[in-house]
Amino acid sequence: MSELTIRDQHEETQKLLLEITQRIASSTGLEDMLPVIVESSRRALRADGVRLILKADAYGSGALNDDLAKADRALSEWISKHGTLEAADLAANAEVKTLFSGSLKAVMAVPLIAQGVQQGVLTAAYQAAHPFSPDDRTFLAIVAAQAAVAIQNDLAFDTVRQSQQQLAAILASTADPVIVIDAHESILLLNPAAEQALGIVAANVSGHPVGSVIQAEPLLQLLRGEAVETMEWQNEAGQTFAPRVSDVQSDEPGGRGRVLILRDITRYKTLHANQNEFVSNVSHDLRSPLTYMQGYATMLPMVGDLNQKQKDHVDKIVTGIAQMTDLIDKILDAGRLDPETGYYELNREPCDVSKMALDLVSVHSQAAEKKNINLTADIDPGLPILNLDDVMLRRALNNLVDNAIKYTPDNGSVTVAAKVQNGDLVLSVRDTGLGISDENQKRLFERFRRVRRREHQRIKGIGLGLFIVKSVAQRHNGDAWVESKENVGSTFFIRLPMEGVNLLGAEANRINPV
Ligand code: ADP
Repeated sequence: MSELTIRDQHEETQKLLLEITQRIASSTGLEDMLPVIVESSRRALRADGVRLILKADAYGSGALNDDLAKADRALSEWISKHGTLEAADLAANAEVKTLFSGSLKAVMAVPLIAQGVQQGVLTAAYQAAHPFSPDDRTFLAIVAAQAAVAIQNDLAFDTVRQSQQQLAAILASTADPVIVIDAHESILLLNPAAEQALGIVAANVSGHPVGSVIQAEPLLQLLRGEAVETMEWQNEAGQTFAPRVSDVQSDEPGGRGRVLILRDITRYKTLHANQNEFVSNVSHDLRSPLTYMQGYATMLPMVGDLNQKQKDHVDKIVTGIAQMTDLIDKILDAGRLDPETGYYELNREPCDVSKMALDLVSVHSQAAEKKNINLTADIDPGLPILNLDDVMLRRALNNLVDNAIKYTPDNGSVTVAAKVQNGDLVLSVRDTGLGISDENQKRLFERFRRVRRREHQRIKGIGLGLFIVKSVAQRHNGDAWVESKENVGSTFFIRLPMEGVNLLGAEANRINPV
């Protein structure tokens, strides 16, 4: 070959190598890239056949492709054992000759290795003996290395794509709305349930600023971390959701997104409302028969003389009716004061808390006496008359005095106090009873919460009293709490701010002479 022809050939090879490199760089998939690599390699090497074998696929070009195809499996195994194969004249190479059939006379095959793993084999074959030049070897080695990296990348990309598709499929079939935003408040993901809940009709909102997609201000505040997630959210279709929001960590710089999941609690809310309505209706209907049962039972001694045994029985019936009435009143009060379904509106009127406290001491004096409990009042003189719900406040304070006597062993003492402290009216009931541990104090004011304690087992109650106390205090913009030490005693407090709606008009706000 003349020098010029060799130079031309060298340039042609370089050109084809560049073409292959560009093709790999710009390609979007193996299907599109590998046939070009195979064909360009065949041209560059002037081979009669070039074949690229992968684990599950193969690409070939040239007249010898069919003959090469027959050797796919045997050649792959040979290469993985021995590495590159170079036979300039197969007739002189008995060891590898058996791998091939047909008119193959010369062959060079190199493994495609990426990250130490053999991805496939690239082979060039000739119909005549063919001495391989260093250029041929370099060319095949470079193409094989580039193809191996491209195949490895494609596999990795495929894995990511598959897991992304899996995630998308999971989120698409999740009934709970899910919204994910990135650190720049752009939507990364919004599943079909979220589209439905938010009434979004646009096909694809990913990449859009969250503020332009979601109109619900409370949800935007949650996503932006401007609000805490204790609230519930109702959409225009009347569904109620409990939102949960959390950070999404990302390796990208500043890439800290947020994910918002809305749990549909519409069914639970409806059930809760139905249950409350049922309990309240039943309790209400039980209340009237109890009233006249109590009337007739207390009138029994007036209709005729009763012997001692009969009197005792009547007493027991009256006590039982009083207990049932108290229970039903508590159920009704708790239902009315329910923060979600309660319909109770405070019935404010001028309320004399000093008188209320004294009344309650007198009402409970008999019960206290039975246990030899010293029940007293400690009321600051000159407490103002306030604009409060007298009936509800009386029930709340009554629950506290009732509990204090119930949970104080014989011979103890209970003090009902009322005073002004830091501009608030503070009512308290102190006892020398069983006390409550710090742990039990935490959730004491929740509905149906009762302390599990051996000494309490025989004391009747359903755990609604303190919920009512707290609700009544909060409805008056105040609060209720306890300070207690086990086996020493407890003091329950109700704080009522002496301001705003709790105050009577200036002229009515007189000082009460005690
Ligand atoms: P109930 O008395 O009907 O169980 P409450 O809501 O009034 O319901 O009280 C909740 C629980 O708090 C009671 O079961 C009791 O364990 C505890 N408790 C309430 N008052 C006192 C008190 N004065 N001393 C000790 N424990 C108390």
